[in-house]
Amino acid sequence: MSDYKLGPEYALQQDQNDILKSYRNQFHIPKDKKGNDLIYMTGNSLGLQPKQTKSYVNQELDDWAKLGVEGHFGAKNPWLPYHEFLTENMAKIVGAKPIEVIIMNTLTANLHFMMASFYQPTASRYKILIESDAFPSDKYAVESQLRHHGFNHEDGVVLWKPRQGEELLNYEDLEDILDEQGKEIALIMIGGVNYYTGQFFDLKRITDLGHKHGCIVGFDCAHGAGNVQLNLHDSGADFAAWCTYKYLNSGPGSLAGCFVHERHAYRKDLNRFAGWWSHNKETRFNMRGEFDQLPGAEGWQLSNPPILSMAAIKSSLDIFTEVGIVALTEKSRKLTGYFEFLLKSLGEDIIRIITPSNPEERGCQLSIQVKNADKLLHQKLTEAGVISDWREPDVIRCAPVPLYNSFEDVYRLVEKLRAILND
Ligand SMILES: *Cc1c(COP(=O)(O)O)cnc(C)c1O
Repeated sequence: MSDYKLGPEYALQQDQNDILKSYRNQFHIPKDKKGNDLIYMTGNSLGLQPKQTKSYVNQELDDWAKLGVEGHFGAKNPWLPYHEFLTENMAKIVGAKPIEVIIMNTLTANLHFMMASFYQPTASRYKILIESDAFPSDKYAVESQLRHHGFNHEDGVVLWKPRQGEELLNYEDLEDILDEQGKEIALIMIGGVNYYTGQFFDLKRITDLGHKHGCIVGFDCAHGAGNVQLNLHDSGADFAAWCTYKYLNSGPGSLAGCFVHERHAYRKDLNRFAGWWSHNKETRFNMRGEFDQLPGAEGWQLSNPPILSMAAIKSSLDIFTEVGIVALTEKSRKLTGYFEFLLKSLGEDIIRIITPSNPEERGCQLSIQVKNADKLLHQKLTEAGVISDWREPDVIRCAPVPLYNSFEDVYRLVEKLRAILND
């Protein structure tokens, strides 16, 4: 895309032509002390609050106040089946069938529940393959699963590493690892979009490779859900999990999503933990019968869920459903492409973008290395009104989010960076 232009007029004109421009106004944009909008580039850490979320949460508070326990059936959105109101819309966002998706628990908890079912190590096949730069929580989770099953986590974790002097991961290297150790690897669990580099992996390619070697394949899609088109069903992955507080704007610590591929929907042989919410809905309240497993991802639920958090998710999903992930990713590509173009204008000897330049291999986030930079640069950016994210040793992560970030945001961010670098 070389028709991007320098200068503020271009940004303003792009904002004017943006069919999604009205959505910015549907979000609370954090402000500086003078009341000006901050340049918020951390929707990949905590998405902004939709203005309508308060009324969605208040609806449930009001129904609880008025109805007490009767709200389970009598609330405007009855609490008993509340999660069902979210399933279809969430399934569209991640490219899954409704039977494959459930909103429950938190992300790391879901990874553990998925591993309880899908990580069934034997003496000869017990290793777990992850990216060398996996999100810490995921790394701790797989290490603790190995220990839980009596294996040594140091020899049980296999790392898919970048080549010397590189940041991004290479599929040929994954093939080599699998050719060498595939028979020993029980599970491959990869971040669908790597949190550090922003690399969006080819989920289908990884799944096919893993399955060819007899491995189970799961993805952590925390940085993918609401950001890229994941097509989880078509990827063939066995399972996936993601949080809803990053690109899905559902509030700090909100509930997470979970995907279990349709081919596992009716399996009764899988090891899993159960609770009353995994039980047949018709007879759940009989309380004295035999356990009767719900089919599909729903069957992995344990507890009745926190409705206030679900209400915030419903609010956000209603916006996503209106916009659609296709229109969203279309704007995202333009916005991030523009960001990349402006960053390059700062001088490719000073700025290095470690995120893939191919739009197919990334979402909205760019991870930027600035020559000789330290944390002071990030501090200066913050003082200049830019909310971005610093990762040791030298990376600034910025995610212009298509729902609420503008071309003007991106323009102003790069101008502030230019001013700091020229200082
Ligand atoms: C954000 C994130 C987490 C956070 O886990 P929680 O259980 O929600 O605290 C885990 N893994 C990845 C890849 C993430 O991006």
